[in-house]
Amino acid sequence: MIPVVALVGRPNVGKSTLFNRLTRTRDALVADYPGLTRDRKYGRAHLSGYEFIVVDTGGIDGTEEGIEVHMAEQSMAAIEEADVVLFLTDARSGLTASDQAIAEHLRRREKTTFVVANKVDGIDADSACAEFWALGLGEVYQMAAAQGRGVTNMIEYALAPY
Ligand code: GDP
Ligand code: MG
Repeated sequence: MIPVVALVGRPNVGKSTLFNRLTRTRDALVADYPGLTRDRKYGRAHLSGYEFIVVDTGGIDGTEEGIEVHMAEQSMAAIEEADVVLFLTDARSGLTASDQAIAEHLRRREKTTFVVANKVDGIDADSACAEFWALGLGEVYQMAAAQGRGVTNMIEYALAPY
């Protein structure tokens, strides 16, 4: 079975940028404002000898009333059907309450999750990424999806068992 990799995270962290890079299409709309990708989108990706399905989601942002209530249905569905979740965060804006809420959900679901700190271009990546260890999901992988930095490494780690 071809593994399914879901891109999950709050809006505007770079999920669609990564999706486009992995699938080499412009199918997933990339925008400067949050929430534009409303449905989950599927693409087929080939990278470093791995073939996989990648799923883009519209983003989860709902800490005010609890993640269970406000988490986008599509993102929830994407998590359920995924073999591997890439949980994207924004190294520039830092750790947020939404990130914490998403992490809590992923821990509860016991999904194989990799924390990605995206947008490390032009910043001190190591110090910016340190705080994401607090998510309690292990290693924090640095990425600049817009430039392709860290993308191949990430996929090689995430898909090694497949
Ligand atoms: P999504 O809402 O999570 O799908 O985020 P998008 O992929 O639409 O990206 C949101 C914004 O972040 C866009 O303006 C992207 O160009 C920008 N972005 C994405 N990846 C990177 C990156 O690696 N570095 C920087 N500096 N900006 C990025
Ligand atoms: Mg998007």
